[in-house]
Amino acid sequence: MKNVMFVASECTPFIKTGGLGDVIGSLPQHLKENEGFDVRVILPLYDEIDGKWKEKMEPITSFDVRLGWRNQEAKLFQLDYHGIIYYFIANDYYFTRKGIYGYYDDGERFVFFSHAVIEALKQIDFKPDILHGHDWQTGVAIALSKITQPIEGLKTIFTIHNIKYQGVMPLSTFDDFFNLGPEHRGGMEWEGNLNCMKSALFHADKITTVSPTYAEEIKQPYFSEGLHPILLEREQDLVGIMNGVDTKEYNPLLDPHIYVQYRSARTKKAENKMAFQKEIGLPVGDVPMYIIISRLVEQKGFDLVKHIFDEFLQENIQFVILGTGDEAFEQFFTSRAEQYPEKVRAFITFDEVLSRKMYAAADFFVMPSRFEPCGLTPLIAFQYKTVPIVRETGGLNDSVKPFNEFTGEGNGFSFHNYNAHELLHVLRYSLSVINRPDVWKKLIRNVNKTQFSWKKSAQQYAKLYKAFDAVLA
Ligand code: ADP
Repeated sequence: MKNVMFVASECTPFIKTGGLGDVIGSLPQHLKENEGFDVRVILPLYDEIDGKWKEKMEPITSFDVRLGWRNQEAKLFQLDYHGIIYYFIANDYYFTRKGIYGYYDDGERFVFFSHAVIEALKQIDFKPDILHGHDWQTGVAIALSKITQPIEGLKTIFTIHNIKYQGVMPLSTFDDFFNLGPEHRGGMEWEGNLNCMKSALFHADKITTVSPTYAEEIKQPYFSEGLHPILLEREQDLVGIMNGVDTKEYNPLLDPHIYVQYRSARTKKAENKMAFQKEIGLPVGDVPMYIIISRLVEQKGFDLVKHIFDEFLQENIQFVILGTGDEAFEQFFTSRAEQYPEKVRAFITFDEVLSRKMYAAADFFVMPSRFEPCGLTPLIAFQYKTVPIVRETGGLNDSVKPFNEFTGEGNGFSFHNYNAHELLHVLRYSLSVINRPDVWKKLIRNVNKTQFSWKKSAQQYAKLYKAFDAVLA
């Protein structure tokens, strides 16, 4: 097993809305360089992808995909970037819209993509041994690859990056979108609907998710969004592999976007803070700075933040928020920025460069999630020697170990119950630690040593791929 095809809906540097884009943008490289796999990636060619990439793409082939009464043309392109081959599927109807998700027919768009992936596998001159799908947008591709066997002996892996989003459509679409016998309906159906994620969980040879704690949590009703029965059934084939971060990309010593490059938290981080305060018009000085960089959605625990925000702002701190999402949260942070011009800034936008400046400038990164499959942002925060404050759930539970000032252990702050006052308590405790330089030094020493590189995670994926050889032998 040497050839692996990733199927995904986002990938840096071409297109990203969240952690999925980071993972697909960096894991193939590490599987190639450290583990010797030829990993390629197949993606939709969205209009949003910058023209500078499109210029370099080569057309390979085109074919029709039948979806119900519609015949849709798929054009396949190829791009070689940093030694990895990326395939892109273009279509004038589904992928020419603003943004990449959030349309009434998202299900249909990614069923089209999945059909096109299966057809592309037959047409390209690369024969994968393993098809590795990521999140619901690729669930139907995993199911179809099992049912229609486009390549003999093809094995499949499906990775859950977030089980909340499943790609659910009326069951009538089964007859509309697929030319399959009724015996295949059960595998794609869940609770009376067609469910893309369930289709993959049913058909994939192996299932992974992005942290060990989340792998356990999604077997429980509270976290599974209704899919726990199938995950319990597939328990033997489910494994949690922690994501890594791209340590070259997110590296304060090399990052061209930050004000002053630095190696450890000791010196130049303060210069970044001051330059940032100046740029965004906050009072310049040695004031503890807390940041949030996130999709502003309920998952991330912002109802807790809302509850205690005014109280915490009575302290001598600064708070900077970067994110987009639910209007109520956007408005909340915007209003607080107006109310506390000396303390709060809210940037309601998606801005990669600004995010880097914030990681570099801040002392604390706040992420009190209700649930969190992995949580790449605290891992990025560690890269920039910024201390995460998280709730103990999912990947956050695996990456952040609470600081104990008496034993000197721990690399961040955490709280257990989904309770606003537990969050407030831990925020205040973090402030008391930064205000005691001797204690703070102990914490920062641990933060400086924390790194989640891809090396270990890539080894775990490689082990999974190689296990297919053992079964065949
Ligand atoms: P999720 O995948 O649930 O959105 P993660 O914490 O795993 O959350 O990953 C989020 C990724 O998206 C990180 O790379 C983070 O820096 C980035 N990000 C989120 N919101 C923004 C934003 N508004 N501007 C720039 N980058 C953002």
